[in-house]
Amino acid sequence: MKKDKILVIGACGQIGVELTLALRKMYGDTNVVASDLREEHDLLKGTGPYVSLDVMNKEMLHVLVIRHNITQIYLLAAILSATGEKNPLLAWHINMQSLLNVLDIAKEENIDKVYWPSSIAVFGPNSPKDTTPQHTIIEPTTIYGISKFAGERWCEYYSHRYGVDVRSLRYPGLISYKSAPGGGTTDYAIEIFHEALEEKKYTCFLSESTYLPMMYMPDAIRATIELMEADKDKIKVRSSYNLGAMSFSPKEIAAEIKKHIPEFTISYEPDYRQQIADGWPKSMDDSLARQDWGWKPEYNLEKMTADMLKNLKK
Ligand code: NAD
Repeated sequence: MKKDKILVIGACGQIGVELTLALRKMYGDTNVVASDLREEHDLLKGTGPYVSLDVMNKEMLHVLVIRHNITQIYLLAAILSATGEKNPLLAWHINMQSLLNVLDIAKEENIDKVYWPSSIAVFGPNSPKDTTPQHTIIEPTTIYGISKFAGERWCEYYSHRYGVDVRSLRYPGLISYKSAPGGGTTDYAIEIFHEALEEKKYTCFLSESTYLPMMYMPDAIRATIELMEADKDKIKVRSSYNLGAMSFSPKEIAAEIKKHIPEFTISYEPDYRQQIADGWPKSMDDSLARQDWGWKPEYNLEKMTADMLKNLKK
């Protein structure tokens, strides 16, 4: 049997740091190679091998995969929704080419499994907003959503045409305290905790009633690993699975934080990110993920808020 050897690309980002640490716990520190454009993240230092990599350089990536006998690739490098709107052509180029490089090398080198995340941003203003189904109108209006939707099609294509075992989740907005968010529209739900603790007030860039699907990072890491560990024949969706946990508005998360910090106040100054959020679903129907590989979230707004505040106070 081949020994599992994992490459994480984009390991220094919001998800990458926590996912790399979780994978190292499971597979052994030396069997998980972390890579990123950036300098090694402090939390990763001393925990396992680190290589500097630009995923756009296909040749370098290919050499790395062969040299380290890589059997699984997690591709997390991307330009996120809010940053993408500032430079759409760059976002398209990076988000697409990084995926094509990985899928193609996976095909050539018979890589066992590939993970690549999509997003709720694939949905657009014409998609149903409440409990948005897996299969429905998908007409994204942000370049980020367009690149994710095209990426999903490429994943399914490489799976069906070449047998590449690529798996994917449409993450909601992810909330975490260990590593900073990377320029998404749901970043407010992280900033609000830091400002509540430090300033006791927060000015939100979305309006008070903007509902969005969200998930606490421990749930997202567990979902990712459970999807990747599931038997191959259980993975019926080869584009990307809807994934859900909780939905709330800025007003609701502020009220929850107030239970812990009574003097906390919030004000609203919506900016360009309001328009992005307005095009996205309010909640997700993730019944296929539950049915096919047993997905079940653990954290709701109340439990997540208590845990965020407890950890940020440390
Ligand atoms: P992030 O921006 O925090 O991290 C991305 C990492 O990729 C960064 O460390 C960056 O340096 C690295 N990177 C960028 N370009 C690179 C390149 N050319 N070569 C190598 N590394 C490069 O993003 P994240 O929040 O950790 O998101 C990871 C993935 O999950 C992305 O595909 C994102 O679209 C998806 N996603 C995230 C969220 C969320 O709320 N965080 C929600 C939905 C989907």
